[in-house]
Amino acid sequence: MRIGVLSLQGGVVEHMNHIRELGSEAVEVKKIEDIKDINGLIFPGGESTTIGKILRERDMLIPLRERIISGLPVWGTCAGMILLAKEIENDEHTHLSVMDIRVRRNAYGRQINSFEITERIKGVSENPIPLVFIRAPYIISYGDDVKIIHMVNGNIVAARQNNILVTSFHPELTENIEFHKYFLSMCII
Ligand code: GLN
Repeated sequence: MRIGVLSLQGGVVEHMNHIRELGSEAVEVKKIEDIKDINGLIFPGGESTTIGKILRERDMLIPLRERIISGLPVWGTCAGMILLAKEIENDEHTHLSVMDIRVRRNAYGRQINSFEITERIKGVSENPIPLVFIRAPYIISYGDDVKIIHMVNGNIVAARQNNILVTSFHPELTENIEFHKYFLSMCII
């Protein structure tokens, strides 16, 4: 299986290492041709406004959007969640606009900018796994097709709508590979 990682900005290498650890091929996606033969695509954390800007500059936004709408499995971590959302509470415009969620950027405010907790994620991990949040967004409302995967303190931090998976946290920054395993299971055609 070949999994692409959008490699325009942000935490790319860590995702690639986790994919390889699971025995799949990881490829960098820097231009639209790179998505031709992939079975799934990861949108890493970083800065959503910067990644969105580069996607537009490289004419990748619309073709990527079409591939996702026609079923390409994708996973957005943190900034990736913001890129995939149809609505962003505190931002002027949206980016790929494919998932029926409304997100709040930098939702945890300054005091708890970054934090880590350990919890079991039903349907994803048998045991508690570390969840790392870095200037993370969370979901404040969602449509009927969205399935909530996990909440922390009453806030939605992981969800799925058919072929689209989003997490507020960064499994790639931990040793744990359960979430990557879950995403790979979405990519098997
Ligand atoms: N705060 C960033 C944004 O709004 C996301 C941070 C992250 O990806 N770790 O895009």
